[in-house]
Parts: sequence; C-alpha cells; structure tokens
Amino acid sequence: MALHLYNTLTRAVQTFTPLDPAGRAVGMYCCGPTVYDYAHIGNWRTFVFADLVRRTLEFSGYQVRHVMNITDVEDKIIKRVREQNTTLRDFTGRYETAFLADLQSLGCRPPHLTPRATEHIPEILDLIQKLTDRGLAYRAPDGSVYFSIEKYRGCGCRYGQLLNLNFDELRPGQRVASDEYEKESLADFALWKARVPDDGAVFWPGPFGEGRPGWHIECSAMSLKALGQTFDLHLGGEDLKFPHHEDEIAQSEGATGQPFVKYWLHGAHLLVEGKKMSKSLGNFFTLRDLTAKGFTGREIRCLLLTAHYRETFNFTLDGLAGARTALARIDECTAKLRDLAAGAAANPAAAAEAPLVAAFRSALHDDLNISAAWATVFDWVRDTNKRIASAQLNPTEAAAALAAWEQVDSVLGIGQKAEADVPPEIAALAEERTAAKKARDFKRADALRDELKAQGWVIEDTPKGIKIKKL
Ligand code: AMP
Ligand code: ZN
Repeated sequence: MALHLYNTLTRAVQTFTPLDPAGRAVGMYCCGPTVYDYAHIGNWRTFVFADLVRRTLEFSGYQVRHVMNITDVEDKIIKRVREQNTTLRDFTGRYETAFLADLQSLGCRPPHLTPRATEHIPEILDLIQKLTDRGLAYRAPDGSVYFSIEKYRGCGCRYGQLLNLNFDELRPGQRVASDEYEKESLADFALWKARVPDDGAVFWPGPFGEGRPGWHIECSAMSLKALGQTFDLHLGGEDLKFPHHEDEIAQSEGATGQPFVKYWLHGAHLLVEGKKMSKSLGNFFTLRDLTAKGFTGREIRCLLLTAHYRETFNFTLDGLAGARTALARIDECTAKLRDLAAGAAANPAAAAEAPLVAAFRSALHDDLNISAAWATVFDWVRDTNKRIASAQLNPTEAAAALAAWEQVDSVLGIGQKAEADVPPEIAALAEERTAAKKARDFKRADALRDELKAQGWVIEDTPKGIKIKKL
C-alpha cells in the first residue's frame, strides 16, 4: 500500500504523491518553536510527530528536505526581552540551544535547515513589497503594513482554505495587530509592525519605515526561500491552522500566484493528566522537568508516539512508567537476539521483506496508524521470545530478526538502552558472587545476588560470562 495521509486542505485521506516528477524528493516544512521559553511536553508532541512523518517518508524511500524555522522575533519574545532587560539574541539564543539539545534527547533527526526569522528580514521585506505591488497589502495610519483580506478575495483567491470562516462578520479595513487571534476576530493582519517604544532595540529599517515582521510572514518568507514556491508538506499543531497557516497561505499565494503547499498535516493537542497544561494546575512539564524525575528522552519519545497524531493524547506520569516497561520488553528481546546473532551477517534486502517490516509499513502507510504499528512490534516480540526460548533461532536467523527490527526502529527511533556505567563497588560484589559460585558456596552467591538487586542491579549469567544490568 502506498503512503496515505490526511490532508487538512482537502479534508480527506489521500495517497501521498510528491511534486517531484521523479517521485523521490520531498520538501517538508514544520513550523518551529517560538524561542521565548523552554518547549513544553505539548510542543514536543508536535515535534516528535513531525519527526515521525519525516522518518516514515525516509523509510518509504523518499529523499526528504526537512526545514524547521526558529521563530526568534515575535510579540511574546519582545515582551520578555523588555521585562528581562536583555538583548534579543542573548535571550532567544539560550532557548534555541536548549530546544536543539532537547530535540536530540528525544531522538528526533535534526532538520536539514533551521532558519531564523531575524536572518531573513530582506526576504520578508521583499515579500511584503510584492504583496503591496499586487495591491494586497496597505500601509495603515500608524505606519504598519497589513494584508487586505477583502482585496485578496476580490482577486478570486480563497481565504479560509483550512477552516470554514464566516465572512459576514468581516468589516473591510478592520485590523488585528496581534499575531494570535481567534476566528471571531477575522480581520486584516499585520505583515510589518511599525516601531513602538515598547519594542526597545528590536526593529529593522526598511522601505515601510522602522519596524519588525509579523509572525505569519516570517514562515512564508523562510519556507518559500528554502523549498520554493510550491512544496509538498507543511506541518504544525492543530492550533496553527488559524490564523497562522491560513495567513501563510494567503501571503504566499498572494505573492507568487502559485499554490503554496500540497499536503497540510496537523497534529492534535496533548493534555496532561486529562487537563489543558497550565502552570497553576501544576501539570506543566518541560522535557527537563521530566528528566529531573528520572525519565529518559527515549521513554518520553515512546509515550509521545503511542497515540494517533490526529487524536488528542492524555499524557500521564503513569503512562511514562508504562512506556518504560514496554521499552524494557523490547530491549530484553533485542539484547537476546544480539547475543544469539554473535556477529552473524544479515541481508538488508531480505530484512525489508520480513513480515514484521511489511506489517509495520502497512500500518504506517495507513495515515500513520501508530497503534497498529506498535501492535506489530509487540506481536513480533512475543513470537521472537517464544522462538528464542525453544532454541529455534540460529545465529543467521537471529541476525535477520535484528536487521528487521532495525528497519522498524529507523522509524520509531528508540534505539538501544544506554548501558549504565557499573560503579566499582557493584562490580566488586558481582565478582565476589562469581567467586562464591565457583567455590560452590551457593548460599553466599544467592545472598550477593540479593544484595545487588537491593542496590538496583541485576546479574545475568550468559554463555560468555556474567552481565551486570541496571534494574
Ligand atoms: P510555539 O513554540 O508556541 O510556536 O509552538 C510550537 C508547536 O507546538 C506548534 O506547532 C504548536 O501547534 C504546538 N503545540 C502547542 N501546544 C501544544 C499542545 N498542548 N499539544 C500539542 N502541540 C502543541
Ligand atoms: Zn509557521
């Protein structure tokens, strides 16, 4: 089955066909973080979803160019720069670095390009100029430049491609200056915001006077520059459909006269312990908050990948503990396979045809049906454990099973559990136990095993000697 995806633009699940006539190259833009704070676990659901889309495309043989911008100038950022009496670059740099480190901890493949809005002011001004030249943008009395929805619609263009909007409420010329607004406040939106005292040092000179860009035009300028006038995929959380993505379409199509994006994908929101995340409810987590509680990036990734991307997902600490158990089952099975394979070679072409890989692929190709994909993995774990227990796997078969697992993991991205460093006192206890066993003092050996367990370590006897693992 070919890859099928739900396209918000057509409101239907469609076969994915890239624009590239050779059917290989794919351009994908995901709206990146607004770097005014540490990204929270809800934001991470969306970025892990984007990583799943990219990995699925790569697994399916496409050559993806993944672009994710960094929004480093915007209303909320300017407010905090002012409050903290710092500079824009110092302030955003801190959160950008943290974001990229967290992205790595969560096992996300790094985007090929992470353009910053502040480094695209000429492209942004150029785009505004084009819109002004085409009569779709105008300068308001305060010096700011706005996009005219009325003029855009007057040219036969459709505003409201992602959402149905009620234009009866629209009063021509009514303007909204803020980057974020509700459907009910449908109005002309700001492309260039004239400098005001509160902006402090955050402004650029330009043909429309000193000022700074609106958030929406930033993404249009960066995506058009990186991926061309029309590209394959544009992603974001569902809250970005309106106004951000609707405005991106209007600006881009208004300036180029070409269709902007072929497939729009939106991820549903994450709730925490059944509620919208908020600091006052105490259910607001950044990745750092969770790693401080002892969870690893791969456990968090695994949990964020459990639900279908178009369904709201309830994140709980119990769920994280469940992800830990699920990963331990996979780790145990793949570790046994590695021992059995003992370096035997596998044929990668044969792995691609393995039943596990085929079942996993057809689940993902069904609009990224991740629950069905996980089910194929756990069926395989159960079956493989049985075959290992009844000594049915020879080294070549174990290597083939591992190669199939690696193909699946190229999408799941959970990798192997990091081996914990064994502290010297634990290694000493383990050695003492081995010596006790050799001396046939089994009582002492068992007591030492219990003591190690009490300290959180487990000893496994393998044909190649003992293995010490963290519980
Ligand atoms: P921001 O940094 O605020 O621009 O948001 C980054 C991404 O996180 C956007 O794609 C948002 O749609 C997404 N997002 C925000 N809140 C949530 C949430 N609770 N669940 C899932 N995604 C979210
Ligand atoms: Zn964007």
